[in-house]
Amino acid sequence: MFKAILINKDETGYHTDMAELNEAALPAGEVLVKVLYSTLNYKDGLAITGKGPIVRSFPMVPGIDFAGEVLESSSPEYAPGDQVILNGWGVGEGHWGGLAQKARVKAEWLIPLPKGMTAKQTLAVGTAGYTAMLCVMALQNHGLQPNAGEILVTGAAGGVGSFAISLMHKLGFTVVASSGRLAESAYLRQLGASEVIARESLSAPGKPLAKERWAAVIDSVGSHTLANACAAVKSNGAVAACGLAQGMDFPVTVAPFILRGITLYGINSVAVEKAKRILAWEHLSQLCDQTILATISQEISLAEAIPMAADLIAGKIRGRLIVDVNR
Ligand code: NDP
Repeated sequence: MFKAILINKDETGYHTDMAELNEAALPAGEVLVKVLYSTLNYKDGLAITGKGPIVRSFPMVPGIDFAGEVLESSSPEYAPGDQVILNGWGVGEGHWGGLAQKARVKAEWLIPLPKGMTAKQTLAVGTAGYTAMLCVMALQNHGLQPNAGEILVTGAAGGVGSFAISLMHKLGFTVVASSGRLAESAYLRQLGASEVIARESLSAPGKPLAKERWAAVIDSVGSHTLANACAAVKSNGAVAACGLAQGMDFPVTVAPFILRGITLYGINSVAVEKAKRILAWEHLSQLCDQTILATISQEISLAEAIPMAADLIAGKIRGRLIVDVNR
């Protein structure tokens, strides 16, 4: 038996509770993992609270990422004792996920624990930090250099935003953080933001084009914020869009694209080819020091993840929540 968070939906409603499950109940997969850490991501918050249509079958164990140790493997790629991590692949949405003490998954979804990082450190980064890294890589592949000018990061005090600031700052870029929590300005500056602007300056309907300011943007907010960010990107600049914390809509015009030649990169961390996942984690292990990880993340227990999910969706959590599934 092992402990897990379990989501059920029936005629009495949508329920998320702690449960004791039997290993035999785990879904099919080549690798059985003893989970050490998972995290609480925005998507997990939506799944646990039922505030978004994340879960595709019931009952479901949420948790879109985890780090752990292989217990059993029928795949030649992994052996008992190997340390592994997983991000995405519909785990915690359509396949039982990481907010549990055990998980059984496909071998191809796993990668080895990145060199130089502990299981806990990788999950301090988690899917949010990994997604921020994918955004950074998209901008680097675009050819962005630190001398290009200011980089805007939206949803700055959230998980993706916090890592986006920290990673871009470490790479030598000048970062401007947009946040609805100006009280967190000291935290955002500690991560490397040189200026903090109020979220409200970007979140209302704006003009098709605005004064050129941003060399590039990392956006985890969507909606008018993303549209206004695009409208103020300098000629031939780029935007990496990964989230929808403000909304799924994107009320933009073609003007920034056809008059300034800007590029919009969509970032989906769920299904990324293995070589790119390993490369992203190599970069993360080099760029994330222990001070940054301790500043951005805090640890909670498995049971605490249920009430904290509502706080996360309400935008009350700063940075990242690591879940120690064994306490
Ligand atoms: P968090 O909840 O940690 O952060 C979201 C942040 O967005 C908040 O902290 C807040 O920052 C800001 N925000 C919240 N509500 C609003 C609003 N109404 N208007 C404007 N800003 C708002 O979530 P994550 O960082 O984990 O994820 C951020 C987004 O990225 C989510 O939409 C998530 O689904 C998406 N995501 C996508 C991935 C992908 O693969 N594409 C992977 C991971 C996440 P502040 O208080 O500073 O304004």
